[in-house]
Amino acid sequence: MKSPFEVVVVGGGIGGLFAANALMAHGIQVSTYEQAPALGEIGAGVFLTPNSVRQLERVGFGPAVEKWGSRVGAESRYFRHDGAPIAPVQVTDSSGWNATFGMHRADLVEFLARALPAKTIHTGHRCTGLEQHGNKARISFANGAVVEADLVIGADGIHSELRPYVFPPSRPIFSGSVAYRGTVAHELIPNWPTNAWLMWLGKGKHFLTFPVRAGRLINYVGFVPADEEMRESWSAPGDPDVLRREFTSWDPRIESLLRHVQTTLRWALYDREPLPTWTRNRLSLLGDAAHPMLPHLGQGANQSIEDGMALATILARADRETAPAALLAYERLRRERVAQVQRGARENGLRYDSAYSDLGVRDAEITAHAAFRKRLYDHDVVPEARATAITAAQ
Ligand SMILES: Cc1cc2nc3c(=O)[nH]c(=O)nc-3n(C[C@H](O)[C@H](O)[C@H](O)COP(=O)(O)OP(=O)(O)OC[C@H]3O[C@@H](n4cnc5c(N)ncnc54)[C@H](O)[C@@H]3O)c2cc1C
Repeated sequence: MKSPFEVVVVGGGIGGLFAANALMAHGIQVSTYEQAPALGEIGAGVFLTPNSVRQLERVGFGPAVEKWGSRVGAESRYFRHDGAPIAPVQVTDSSGWNATFGMHRADLVEFLARALPAKTIHTGHRCTGLEQHGNKARISFANGAVVEADLVIGADGIHSELRPYVFPPSRPIFSGSVAYRGTVAHELIPNWPTNAWLMWLGKGKHFLTFPVRAGRLINYVGFVPADEEMRESWSAPGDPDVLRREFTSWDPRIESLLRHVQTTLRWALYDREPLPTWTRNRLSLLGDAAHPMLPHLGQGANQSIEDGMALATILARADRETAPAALLAYERLRRERVAQVQRGARENGLRYDSAYSDLGVRDAEITAHAAFRKRLYDHDVVPEARATAITAAQ
């Protein structure tokens, strides 16, 4: 008989909460530890794409995605900064399945958390250290708690406390840009489409909108070059007037939306070079802890969902003895795909910020990019995870 094992997930963001759900759906005992006093997210959107919606559906979240999300359709477009259309946006996989949804981050976290037994979620627990002895891992928290587990998943984001237990510490890489983001009530801009993802591209800047919360809110993101203060602040309240000034003389539709912005959040954009390893014995990483990426493919959360499903599918065939080998198998399956997406996000950022002397070349690349998106969206991590061999841990 297989000896069961217990998994501790550190980090209750989108990646950690989805992984906990996927593990539970595969019959694996799991508990989640989050540093914040309550689970929650910032007031902004996240875009879900078919490669992760496929996995959300498998764990039973299809109806919640439909209810809380806003599906975008064929009217989705890229524009030049002045509003001249460039190309349609790819919203389906190759089979024509449209599962691209704008989602409010708080709604996503809420339904992922609500599906977990309350006793398995421990808020107010900031992980401060990890020890591994024999076949157990011991996690310490700032509040004095110490917890033992058979496996630990570090889903604690770009500043991960657990990453240095896997690979020597390194500094994240600053992109030179910041993102202002927030939402505007649709009733204030009733003519704004609630079924389209729209992006305007200009020199060193780009502006994105998509609907969230079943079309009741329009999410916006304004990407602009950073000054020194912005670089240091990671995330902070932004000045709506500064944001408006960044996009004056662009398509007047942008001004018509930004006019209603009263508060906005500003994020400095960082990523890291792909890590050569994510795993050490009974600890492995997931989501931004393993592979923080720039948001220019909208894939950070989507890839963390793929991670969680791959992990759960592989661990479902493991037992306490083979679990460390299963973590290595998970890492082997995920590392190259995610590294490609990390690199792709950097390249796409150059397109979006129009770092081209000939904008015709940029526009042609944006149009051709649909093929890359289709491949990205076609990916189903489950058959590969099922076929993954768990070989002895070295
Ligand atoms: C401007 C912008 C737009 C984006 N748009 C998209 C998009 O459209 N689509 C998309 O897929 N991705 C998008 N992303 C990326 C996406 O937001 C992230 O990749 C995703 O949220 C990562 O999830 P995560 O759970 O790995 O990490 P996080 O969301 O960072 O969650 C980590 C959790 O761990 C907790 N934590 C941290 N340290 C500790 C500790 N020591 N102990 C306990 N808990 C701890 C944190 O409080 C947090 O709750 C965007 C990012 C940005 C900046």
